[in-house]
Amino acid sequence: MEEKIKEIREADFQAEVLENKFAVVDFYSTDCPPCNALEEKYEALSEIYGDDVQFIKIFRQGNRDLAEKLDVTGSPTVLFYDNGQECGDRLTGGVLRSDIMKNLDAMVGESRAEELHSMIKPVETETDVLILGGGPAGLTAGVYLAQAHIETILVDTALPGGYVATTHLVSNYPGFIEPQNGYMLSHYMSEQAIANGVEFRAAVEVNKVDLERKRIKIDGFETIRARKIIIATGSKPRPLGVLGEDTYRGNGISYCATCDAKYYQDKEVVIIGGGNSAIEEALFIAKFASKITIVHQLDHLQANKEAQKKVISHDKIEIIFEHEPREFRKYGNMDMGVVVEDLESGKKRELRTNGIFIFVGFIPNISQLSNKLKVDQWGYLETDIEKRTNIDGVYAAGDVTSKPFRQITTAVADGTVAAIAVGKELE
Ligand SMILES: Cc1cc2nc3c(=O)[nH]c(=O)nc-3n(C[C@H](O)[C@H](O)[C@H](O)COP(=O)(O)OP(=O)(O)OC[C@H]3O[C@@H](n4cnc5c(N)ncnc54)[C@H](O)[C@@H]3O)c2cc1C
Repeated sequence: MEEKIKEIREADFQAEVLENKFAVVDFYSTDCPPCNALEEKYEALSEIYGDDVQFIKIFRQGNRDLAEKLDVTGSPTVLFYDNGQECGDRLTGGVLRSDIMKNLDAMVGESRAEELHSMIKPVETETDVLILGGGPAGLTAGVYLAQAHIETILVDTALPGGYVATTHLVSNYPGFIEPQNGYMLSHYMSEQAIANGVEFRAAVEVNKVDLERKRIKIDGFETIRARKIIIATGSKPRPLGVLGEDTYRGNGISYCATCDAKYYQDKEVVIIGGGNSAIEEALFIAKFASKITIVHQLDHLQANKEAQKKVISHDKIEIIFEHEPREFRKYGNMDMGVVVEDLESGKKRELRTNGIFIFVGFIPNISQLSNKLKVDQWGYLETDIEKRTNIDGVYAAGDVTSKPFRQITTAVADGTVAAIAVGKELE
């Protein structure tokens, strides 16, 4: 498999990359989960495109000068070269197979790309249990299943870890006296699952999910058939659908106070929302920001009374009731605008601020799943006490399920229950 990939050092870069017609370069590191997730895809694609494009690997830490010269600051970073010139996109983090293919296709041209695509053989894989989603719920289920010697494949559309991976500090997960870095906590969960034998398909595209027949198709070529499925796909922030929201998501607009409040030390912030999370997060952000403006559509807050009292009396926090955002604008780094409309008068005005936080709730990640799944009034999956959904052999765990509290501990507990119940059924 591997002979179509050349591992090179800085001295060979000129000859092997710049003097080649087409080349793709993977700067990788050791102890790097996203690099491991990329490795298999890179090898498989080298088998398909390897006669047309030179596939190169460079160990980043061993070739620091070259990495710096090329402005490669993270691993993995995939670069594409056409006749010595960098072309296409730079891919980093959880690199998708389809993104690599898109760039390779652009280099080899449409008709050759079509020929190469026809060489891709479909693959069928069988397993006892397929877990969709690698957050705390899915990873815990994986650990329990693998320890019971039940073959388990875990599929995640991103890198495993779920929300914990993006949470700055976690202070309420038992077993640690000091608050834990969320990324590391999720990393240990993933590594524990891998060490116990869970097979990962990370940063993949899920093309089709057939829950009734227990088959899913990923990355356009692999069909995984399972005896049981556990859905642990979590939830995501509810989009407002306001102009500019997509453009500035993660670039002026944040959904995570724990992750981003620290960047607003002595800065001004606008918060959209008036429920529990908006109010509690406002109090947290107030530890950093110099001024907070809460924009809420109703004429009263909907949070718990205690938090409401604190927010209303807080000298850094102002609340604008009965207004809705209509547009988000960006004028420069940490220079944002929110156009708000007065719901009574219909008048619009712009609030200038340094950053925007949106807290208007979450929606479960079930859009790709069967519409025959039973859901509650908010769209979360209903399960019985052992985490079975209404579809035979399909379980659900974690934030995607209907329940009153969504925390790491409750997701971990759900994953445990689902895995043990699945194990008993498989016996
Ligand atoms: C900002 C923030 C801070 C938080 N802080 C804390 C805290 O300090 N303490 C605490 O206990 N809880 C905290 N929580 C809540 C906690 O993170 C969640 O309850 C927990 O992560 C839920 O775990 P999960 O496995 O159900 O889902 P998630 O963690 O959401 O993981 C779901 C996984 O499924 C994957 N996925 C999504 N769709 C698909 C698909 N179609 N196919 C395959 N995979 C898919 C995602 O990529 C993700 O990896 C916080 C949440 C947020 C948003």
